[in-house]
Amino acid sequence: MSQPPLERCPFCDYSLEGLPTEHRCPECGRPFDRRWRVFGGRRYWPLMSGWEKLRFVFDMTIWLGLALFFCVLPLFCFRFAGVAFGVVGAVYVMQIAFGRANEFIAVGPQGITVGNRRLKIARRFPWSDLHRVEVCKLDQLAVHAGDREIHCSIGPKSQIRRCVEYINSYDQPCQHE
Ligand SMILES: [Zn+2]
Repeated sequence: MSQPPLERCPFCDYSLEGLPTEHRCPECGRPFDRRWRVFGGRRYWPLMSGWEKLRFVFDMTIWLGLALFFCVLPLFCFRFAGVAFGVVGAVYVMQIAFGRANEFIAVGPQGITVGNRRLKIARRFPWSDLHRVEVCKLDQLAVHAGDREIHCSIGPKSQIRRCVEYINSYDQPCQHE
């Protein structure tokens, strides 16, 4: 489980080089642990796996092709539908190409932290509270901890799956002192 120390603050991207293992970010003031491994919270596109990118390009080609096809049909209502299709597709493409997942999950010796970059909030769940994490529908990750169930969107499905695998295989430190 050894990995290089966290280089950037997951809340604001400030460089953490030279800072102690557990500290507060000098830029945004949020506590961090440099032993964290962070999932999500970044631009959407680089988080996608090769297959997801290929699938996305394929789907969008079909979608926008269909929009174009409707646009060249002679009836006005078809053109209207074509433009509507095109706009929806274009907005979606922009979102995937330039959007980012605001939520992230940081996994470390103390447990997991569910953070939101935009809202600058974080919820911490110690390992002793954590029952399980799982991939759930609508590209969300579900955290079952204590008597709560929290859903978060940390990015594409492959990123969620990687995060769940990492948490489930994490060598949890002994809770007893
Ligand atoms: Zn920060």
